[in-house]
Amino acid sequence: MTAGNATQRGEADARVRRVGRVLSPAAAWWLLIAVLLFVPAAHAERDLLSQAEWATTQERLSPSEAMALDYRAADTAALNLGPYQGRLWLRFSLDGESLGESRWLSIRWPYFRDLRIFLRDPGAPGGDWLEVRETTDMVGLLDMPGHPGRLLPRFAAEREVLIQLRADGPTALRLTLGTLEEERVRTLVRYTLFGVYLGAMLGMAVYSLFLMLAVRERTYLGYAVFLAATVLYIGLRYNILTPLLPDAVQSVPPAARAQVAVALVALSAIWFVRRFLRTQRDDRLADRALLGVMVAAVLSMPASIWLVGVVSFAIVAVYAVAAVVAIVWAAVRAMRRGFGPAGYLLLGWSVFALAVLLYLAMLLGWLPYATWLMIALPVGSLAEALLLAFALGNRIRHKQREETVLAQERDRYRFLSEQDGLTGLYNRRALDRRLDKAIAASLRTGDPLSLVVLDTDWFKDYNDRYGHLAGDDALRCLARVMRANVRDGDGCFRYGGEEFVILLPGQALAQATVVAERIREAYRGNSASELGPGGTVSLGVAQFREGDSANTLLARGDAALYHAKERGRDRVELAH
Ligand code: GH3
Ligand code: MG
Ligand code: MG
Repeated sequence: MTAGNATQRGEADARVRRVGRVLSPAAAWWLLIAVLLFVPAAHAERDLLSQAEWATTQERLSPSEAMALDYRAADTAALNLGPYQGRLWLRFSLDGESLGESRWLSIRWPYFRDLRIFLRDPGAPGGDWLEVRETTDMVGLLDMPGHPGRLLPRFAAEREVLIQLRADGPTALRLTLGTLEEERVRTLVRYTLFGVYLGAMLGMAVYSLFLMLAVRERTYLGYAVFLAATVLYIGLRYNILTPLLPDAVQSVPPAARAQVAVALVALSAIWFVRRFLRTQRDDRLADRALLGVMVAAVLSMPASIWLVGVVSFAIVAVYAVAAVVAIVWAAVRAMRRGFGPAGYLLLGWSVFALAVLLYLAMLLGWLPYATWLMIALPVGSLAEALLLAFALGNRIRHKQREETVLAQERDRYRFLSEQDGLTGLYNRRALDRRLDKAIAASLRTGDPLSLVVLDTDWFKDYNDRYGHLAGDDALRCLARVMRANVRDGDGCFRYGGEEFVILLPGQALAQATVVAERIREAYRGNSASELGPGGTVSLGVAQFREGDSANTLLARGDAALYHAKERGRDRVELAH
């Protein structure tokens, strides 16, 4: 990574943090608003269930046959049978006089199919059952296939009411009666809350989108798909997205649609978590466990569509629990191996896991069908989405830090590999690389390029007389002199032993000769003052010309040096 690149990323990171500072408190507000809105949404409705009796059968029956079933009193406002597949019958009686305008009969459970409502006048035993059909005088939101409900006809006296429903798995219900107006308001509230929920999830998705744009981190896609799948599930669960589904999907039983949405949630969540925690690389065991759950989720989809019922529900329940357990476990393992960003992930998933387990306990019939359990999932998913957004930000910062450290180390190793240990000048490897580059640049721009080949005179004698360490000092002194006499863009290289090369881009032979002379003079003076017994150097100068390669250019410089030695040393010679 170049320094420019790093600053760009740093700026992007700062921008992201600024956006995050604005968006994350907003997300927290949405969360609060959502919670506050959900609570009044659960206001008391006129309950019918506690006066009703219920029975179950596998076969389809006529109303008269169904009346002969063995009925049990419900006695509560909410019934929860747990996983059940078959027909559910409900019967009760209504006094037409006391009904007034409260004629909207509503059944709060989105997974029922084949809702049929029959009325009979008990004053005429053996009389016909009258089926209450879908009415067409409902406008606006209620026109859409929301949760099951029917507008009852007006009647003066008492009526026996018989309801038939088909269940495909977890089965719970509330049965209420209210005015059409109340139902409209409730529907409106439901849609508004879903809008708030959708907005909050979208806000989180956008927040993380900024993060991803800053670093092009694909883990984000898993997060976005996870949010979308969760919104889809909640939307189906609250029967809000149902009307928007294409016709082909409308024919799939609601329970099957919900199960497929759960599979999508699990798949995207695990995909996200595997990338986030880098389990593929750092934790093979957890990775295999997560992959196993993914396979189960994929395999469950055909089962959900063609085998919808208690069996497919059991499959979904098992892998859903396996998924949250595996994810939390993988996050704990990541924390243990010191992967910091796993913290927020673990927190987010713990919140969501709790919501999922509570909700599942309700679907299994272990907990009563209660409003707070119904909102556990959307609230849990909101909290998780928020925490995962933090986790993602944390993870990206972590990755950036890692990349910066890596780039610094790379630069350092490169520097070390190109440096000469004794003199601190570039070494021969660096010369090979830079000479090729300088030649290419010269060819491209047409600017001149020269080099100087330098060799210390009588250095063997110097070593013999003053010792090898003094010789080393002389070489270091020479390196200082060379460096002091060239410009920033020029390069000084130790070519080997006591031989050096100076690369002078942009300089023609005449200018290079001036530099060479300057170094020759300076070394003579400096070495004499620094080392006592000084030394001299001989230099050969060559300018790059058409047809030269790095080798021929160096060879011409070397030949010029040879001439300098031949002509008495302590001098500069030019190549022909
Ligand atoms: P000439 O003027 O012809 O270059 O004579 P010279 O003695 O300098 O040439 P020669 O190539 O025969 O000797 C080079 C000497 O440089 C031999 C070697 O001991 C010495 N030398 C090479 N590298 C180092 C080093 O790193 N430190 C020291 N102290 N001496 C070195
Ligand atoms: Mg030599
Ligand atoms: Mg020499």
